[in-house]
Amino acid sequence: MDAAFIEEMEGELTSLQGEILKNFIAENEDFKKLVSGMDIKDLGDIAADDIMCRKMEALNQHETNRLRSIESALARLKNGRYGICLRCGKKIPVDRLRAIPYAVLCIECKSGEESGGKKQHA
Ligand SMILES: [Zn+2]
Repeated sequence: MDAAFIEEMEGELTSLQGEILKNFIAENEDFKKLVSGMDIKDLGDIAADDIMCRKMEALNQHETNRLRSIESALARLKNGRYGICLRCGKKIPVDRLRAIPYAVLCIECKSGEESGGKKQHA
């Protein structure tokens, strides 16, 4: 995986993360109060904070799951495991990563999961 692609995906993930957090802040008065005392220049800090994540989860689990996936994708970018399927270890196609930068499963494993297979928390 080349450096330019990694950089591209890092940019995608970071802006996606920012978008989700901004929506959260815009839509949830409680959450707005929560972050109002914080320096939110770096929205990534919120997503990385476990306590914040739990509060967000109570408000919107779906979006929080997305944020967590983004977090782990960013971590995987740093440790060189990005783009490798969490379940089968095969490379996830670049097209899929461009469509869903936080994908952690290849299409086969993902469709297996959706058709009622045992859920693996990612
Ligand atoms: Zn797979």
